Amino acid sequence: MSKVLKFGGTSVGSAENMKKVAQIVLQEKATITVLSAMSGTTDALVKISASAKSGDKAQIEELLTMLSDKYTTCIDGLLENSVSEAKAKMNGAFETIRNASANYQDYKSERVIISQGELLTSAIFTMYLKEQGVNAILLNAPDFVVTNEDGKVDTCGLKEKLVQLVSDKNATYVTQGFICTNYKGDIDNLGRGGSDYSAALMGAAIEAKEVQIWTDIDGMHNNDPRFVENTHPIRHMSFDEAAELAYFGAKIIHPATIAPCKEHGIPVLLKNTMDPAAPGTTISNREDNEANSFHAVAAKDGITVIRIHSARMLMAYGFLRKVFEIFEEHKTPIDMITTSEVSVSLTVDNPEHLDKIEKELCELGNIEIERDNSIVCIVGHLDHKDVGLAAKVLDSIKDIPIKMISYGASHRSLAMLINTKDKQHTLQSLNDKLF
Ligand code: ADP
Ligand code: ASP
Ligand code: MG
Repeated sequence: MSKVLKFGGTSVGSAENMKKVAQIVLQEKATITVLSAMSGTTDALVKISASAKSGDKAQIEELLTMLSDKYTTCIDGLLENSVSEAKAKMNGAFETIRNASANYQDYKSERVIISQGELLTSAIFTMYLKEQGVNAILLNAPDFVVTNEDGKVDTCGLKEKLVQLVSDKNATYVTQGFICTNYKGDIDNLGRGGSDYSAALMGAAIEAKEVQIWTDIDGMHNNDPRFVENTHPIRHMSFDEAAELAYFGAKIIHPATIAPCKEHGIPVLLKNTMDPAAPGTTISNREDNEANSFHAVAAKDGITVIRIHSARMLMAYGFLRKVFEIFEEHKTPIDMITTSEVSVSLTVDNPEHLDKIEKELCELGNIEIERDNSIVCIVGHLDHKDVGLAAKVLDSIKDIPIKMISYGASHRSLAMLINTKDKQHTLQSLNDKLF
């Protein structure tokens, strides 16, 4: 039974944790192990890249010293015979970072710098497995994870290459999450938190029986444990529910992860590296049929709402098409939408092209823009025939101003737009009153 196991930043964050990861990999007989960078590394590399852009050499050296201390401690605590090989690898990575910083060319150099974290952990971990007598083979993910001009992964090419690469049934393969090659042939990445997505794509490519995402918490909780007290793990979720929660901010899993697994019917397990015996969450095709129930809540920050008021909308057709075309032209996805007779409100999480969008929307009507909002999404069995579900949600947060409500698009979710400053209170109130 082939399995793809992915371990996140905390799971590979120290020598001690990497040893736990090795035990899990052997116990689960992982076909492919996908690793993130050690926790804190990608953040540091992003800062190095920003410092390279602004020419702040002192800051670059300070961050490299911090990373050097971190990786040296890990290597010394983990390896015996391969210490010098691992340190040479580490110094090579730092040289690459210094060179890219010195000859900084925006996007391209930034991607080279940011890729070094995953390249290092995967190399060090493979050395450790080999020292333990394991037939471990390191694969270079950018050789087979390739994106096209739209930033989408070429899944056919991935399948073709990866199936050939992992043909030795007696080997365990280790590779990097997050990183890839773009259509220009340069190193690139799948976006922050993208290692989960890498694992899902690889699982789909080799038709794995299971994709396991190992992290620092016992599965998907019913609410965001970073902001809410007394959350609890959910043992099972459907793909659609998990996708909805991930999309609306449940950080435990990257939103793109679910689609490839759903498409190929591959169950996704969310497990805790620090407590491997804990059951975690299984995400699969199975739909739980408890009617009338709230399963979980998630929230997504950084939401901008755009309100368009236009008398031209009254009784007219084709108005919304014109609005959508403007967002399409600027490659900006819309998250939520509500309409009234003469106005429409939309939310976006990517404000990059907002100025241009606003200018074009002005031709359609009066525009109002508000930033610093959050979408709170409640997922569960919210069948439209059931009475009182929406009332129960609204009643539990009756002291909080709600700016938009989206309900009825599916029987799975109810989403609301609130001010970000009210988020913690909203999440806690929903947790206390709905579960
Ligand atoms: P990794 O580095 O392993 O990818 P992440 O930090 O990306 O880990 O995701 C795990 C974290 O997600 C948890 O530590 C937790 O704080 C956060 N999180 C947010 N929402 C949820 C949720 N609904 N259930 C579980 N964890 C969540
Ligand atoms: N290391 C990358 C990040 O921090 C990718 C990942 O962890 O999934 O975003
Ligand atoms: Mg993550």
